[in-house]
Amino acid sequence: TTTGTPHHVVILGAGVIGLTFAYLLTNGIGSENYKVTIVARDMPEDLDSQAFASPWAGANWSPMQYDERLHKWEKQTFDRLWDMAPTGLTLRSPSKVYFEQEDIENELWWKDLVRNIRPLELDPSLPSNIKKAVEFDTVSLNPGIYLPWLKSELLLRGVEFVKRRLVSLNEVHTYAKDAVAIVNATALGARSLIGVQDTKVFPIRGQTIVAIAPKAKEFVTIIPKTKGTDATYLIPRPSPSGMVLIGGTFQPNNWDTSVDKATADGIFQRAKALVPSLGDPETRIISHNVGLRPAREGGPRVETEYIELALSGELVPRGPDADTGAGSKKTLVVHAYGFGPAGYQQSWGAAAEAVGLLKAALSA
Ligand code: FAD
Repeated sequence: TTTGTPHHVVILGAGVIGLTFAYLLTNGIGSENYKVTIVARDMPEDLDSQAFASPWAGANWSPMQYDERLHKWEKQTFDRLWDMAPTGLTLRSPSKVYFEQEDIENELWWKDLVRNIRPLELDPSLPSNIKKAVEFDTVSLNPGIYLPWLKSELLLRGVEFVKRRLVSLNEVHTYAKDAVAIVNATALGARSLIGVQDTKVFPIRGQTIVAIAPKAKEFVTIIPKTKGTDATYLIPRPSPSGMVLIGGTFQPNNWDTSVDKATADGIFQRAKALVPSLGDPETRIISHNVGLRPAREGGPRVETEYIELALSGELVPRGPDADTGAGSKKTLVVHAYGFGPAGYQQSWGAAAEAVGLLKAALSA
């Protein structure tokens, strides 16, 4: 129902989660009830910033881990990204997943999520640790195009972007004193943001290579016997033509954002064993990268909380629009962070759930 004055919702974070949340909240019937401001240290165009995860992702749907809640989000997201393919923002790509074990029945919990899954006969030239394989179709995107697209859609809908780093949740009221809710999509930032300080948040370091490899048109990966370790994967992107992302490391609690040369060599050699065309002379390395996946012990946090935020005080910075009165304000916070290695492939489903929580809390 329209309230007259729209609810001012401040979203902290402009990674794929904050942007997708804003997209859904400002979409269609009822969107006139919300005024949205996105406040973030890193913006969608800051594609070289290692301070946020979103620029560094593959990004595609690939099998991670089974969990009922995540599965629901991934199903919704897969279908949405799949349907976007005609726009060119996403790519439907043939895929091969290799296993290091013979018995894979329990591994295929995702068989109804992807499209056209079928067994694949092993090529004798493959590395000997590979015991089984399946083929299917998945979907991928290029974060460097997808994030600016989300932002441009939001600008058209009147969403305001403020580039700013917050130390404390209290700061929101210093320049948006009419904010009725805060969406916390700060990912790794949730570990140190005063008012949240979630010590369950931790990084998983991922070193990767972006290359132009015109013949590498399939997503390929090996599912290691021991989960949660370094992996071998190649993800083709919808554009530019021939672009692929090759990975990569999976190093929990490693905050190091510098590229390691020996690691890069290992990543490339392992991928070449799976995709021999990477050795062709037309392969061109574009960049070596490191990104930190914003993980959380126990999985993503999508829930509401009411937090008493100080309106003034020695440690509360003053914005131009500051409320000079003392006291505090009980404020609705919708948390949406901790997506680790799967923020893109869970984005539409998780953001829809978080938007539902916000709307329910505001109308309660
Ligand atoms: P982020 O992108 O980290 O955004 C956080 C936002 O919060 C940023 O705008 C940041 O500036 C802001 N912020 C934080 N603290 C503050 C503060 N104090 N004040 C103001 N702003 C703040 N996922 C997939 O689904 N598929 C893949 O194939 C895939 N591959 C990956 C490969 C690699 C190598 C890596 C590193 C990640 C990969 N991921 C993949 C994971 C994916 O990138 C993340 O899950 C996703 O980007 C998380 O999005 P987010 O919006 O939660 O966080």
